[in-house]
Parts: sequence; C-alpha cells; structure tokens
Amino acid sequence: MDNANIFDIFLKTNALLNGHFLLTSGRHSNQYFQCALVLQYPQYNEIICKLIADYFKSYEIDTIISPAIGGICVGQEVARQLNKRFIFAERENNKMTLRRGFQIKPNEKILICEDVVTTGGSVFEVMDIIKENNAVTVGVGMIVDRSNSKVKFGVPQFSTLKLDVVSYQPDECPLCKENIPIIKPGSRKKAP
Ligand code: ZN
Repeated sequence: MDNANIFDIFLKTNALLNGHFLLTSGRHSNQYFQCALVLQYPQYNEIICKLIADYFKSYEIDTIISPAIGGICVGQEVARQLNKRFIFAERENNKMTLRRGFQIKPNEKILICEDVVTTGGSVFEVMDIIKENNAVTVGVGMIVDRSNSKVKFGVPQFSTLKLDVVSYQPDECPLCKENIPIIKPGSRKKAP
C-alpha cells in the first residue's frame, strides 16, 4: 500500500474532492477534505492504520492515546493492531483533559494517534498531558498531515498522506476568475 493507493481510497470515498469549494472559513479552495468519510468504512481504516502500526511496531509502546473526536477510531485501530491499551483525551471547558477514569502512569511510553493534523494544536495539548503525568511521548502517527510536514512535534512522526491544502481569499481565487461554479461541501448545492 503506497501513497498513491491511499490517495485513491480518499478519492473513492469522497473524503477528498477536487473542484472549487467554499470552505467554512469563507476562503475558496481547489480541494475539500473530510477524513471521517474514509473512517466510516472499517476496512479502509484497518488498511490505513496498518501503515501507522507498521511504522511504530519496533518502538517500545505501552499505550496509545488520541485526541477526541477525530483521532479516536484511528488510535483504537492502531492499538488493536499493536495489541496495546487505548485511551483518549477530550476537551472540557476548552482544555484537553483525561476523563472517564483514564490514567497515565509515570514513565509510561505513549504513542499519539490522530486523524488529521493541520496546526497540531490538539496533539501538542495531548503531549502536555503526557508530560504532566511524567510519561513519555514516543511518537505521533496521523492519517493526514495537512501541513505538508510543516508541523514538527519533536518526536518521531509518521503520516500516511501529506496534503498541502491551498486556499484563497474570494477576490484572489483563480478558480473564480475561470468562472468555475463553486460548491459548498456537504450541501451538494452550488453556493449562492
Ligand atoms: Zn473561488
């Protein structure tokens, strides 16, 4: 399974669309990406997560952790394949935290798994939780690195797909200049 095949799965499941899109930010883009549309198919999640599991299988790992919500099915599947414990962190009052009785022991070796990294904010917050518990982040595995490798976590990191998503202010959009109709993703309708 190489990068081209992963890309193919994203196209096949409509997780990655090429065209002219109105993003929620108001900017325009030639690509729209929704990772959950891949992860709705467990058989694809298994194939994609195997790349992450294979990459980290020689590392000493006690536990896998993911930031909720997007990372949960990634971390759970990687943990299943590596036969490790899986926990997740979630936001409470806008701060990433461990709830539900999840605990991290001192010196525990932890792999973070995420679906999509754009700025890396959630992953950095999970790294802080690991540090606060005197445990060790051994690496970060993600399905898609949307920063095109610009985000560095300072530990071994692996992504199954790198995307450099380009977006434009509406008045500078080259697709608008070509009069290509714009689509608002999720609506299947042309944006007004
Ligand atoms: Zn446009």
